[in-house]
Amino acid sequence: MKLGFSSLALFMKPLKDILEIAIKDKFEIIEILCEGPYLPRYILEHLEELNLKEINEFIELNNIEIFIHSPTIDLNPASMNIGIRQESEKQIKETLEFAHLINAKAVTTHPGIVHRREKRIRDIAIEYTIDTLKHCQDYAEKVGVNLSIENMPKRFSYLASCPQEHEKIVANVGSSATIDWGHVNTYKNPHDFLKVSNILYFHLNDNSAIKDQHLSLGEGNADFSSEFLKQVKYGIIELNSYDNVLKSKEFINKQLQS
Ligand SMILES: [Zn+2]
Repeated sequence: MKLGFSSLALFMKPLKDILEIAIKDKFEIIEILCEGPYLPRYILEHLEELNLKEINEFIELNNIEIFIHSPTIDLNPASMNIGIRQESEKQIKETLEFAHLINAKAVTTHPGIVHRREKRIRDIAIEYTIDTLKHCQDYAEKVGVNLSIENMPKRFSYLASCPQEHEKIVANVGSSATIDWGHVNTYKNPHDFLKVSNILYFHLNDNSAIKDQHLSLGEGNADFSSEFLKQVKYGIIELNSYDNVLKSKEFINKQLQS
């Protein structure tokens, strides 16, 4: 497995510092969480501040792979409101443009939410998200970056909170799939998510199966057996404390040795 972590754990630190920490601790991937100061629109408007040339040289020299998590807070590609869908599409495309400039392998995004517990409305939301994300997929192909759609925790308002819905969205968009193994653990048959087509990589975090807690690996009851871990080609530890990221890395190594 190639292992990395989400910049969530070191949020607000400059990218160069995050990369240096990753190399020191022998990680092979970084997933940049594009919220706040890393909002792609802001980055694209202030490229000279990021010093992309130096960053790219550093990434290449140290053989680090970059994955990107698009902004999702307050965005919704499945929105009933066309203005919100258009803005979501615009920001995902801006993320893909940033991904292209930093030679990222993939951009993960969420399929969105639906606020009404009615099948008819949910079906419309699924159609909307497929339509929005298809436009993003076309753009992703143009710039040569994988667009990857993530599964969500089990809650009625989240789209792709069951494998059938995740599969439907991924297959119709023609994108890759990101499997969040913590989100998966809130579903009754977690391993069914392994059958979703085009899985590119995994977000790794743990919980007690009741809600999305983002615990260190091994502190909840998600399956982190060596059988599961051996199926993970690219894994991103997604936790909000860097100490817990290191603890989880150790846990993975131990599991893989057993
Ligand atoms: Zn996510």
